[in-house]
Amino acid sequence: MQRLPVLGAAPVDGGDPMTARRIDLDDTSGCPVGGSRCESCGAERDDLRVETATLGRLGVACFLLCPRCGDSGVVPNVAVGTAMRFVGQHCEHLGIDLDQMAEELDLQAGDR
Ligand SMILES: [Zn+2]
Ligand SMILES: [Zn+2]
Repeated sequence: MQRLPVLGAAPVDGGDPMTARRIDLDDTSGCPVGGSRCESCGAERDDLRVETATLGRLGVACFLLCPRCGDSGVVPNVAVGTAMRFVGQHCEHLGIDLDQMAEELDLQAGDR
C-alpha cells in the first residue's frame, strides 16, 4: 500500500514533507522510561535508559536497559510473541503503525 503525500495537507507536527518519508526508528524521545529493572539482565537500578534494538525482521523495539547492557549492545532474549508486542509498542512511541515500520525497514535494507 503506497502512501502518497497530498499537497496542501499539512503533515502532523508540521514535519518537512521531504524528510517525512524517512522515519528514525531508533528515536527514543517518545519512549517512556518506566520501571526500575533492566529488561535484559534484571538488575534494579536508577540509571536505566531506553535503547532500541532491531529484532530480526519483526522490526525495531525499545528496551529499558542498564548502562552495562546498553553499552554491550546485547538484545534482550525475548520470545517472538513478546518481541512483536515490544515492536508494536515502539511503533506507538514513534507515532507510526506496523506497516510504516515494515516500509522503513525495507528502505533501510535497500541502503545496504
Ligand atoms: Zn542490564
Ligand atoms: Zn519505544
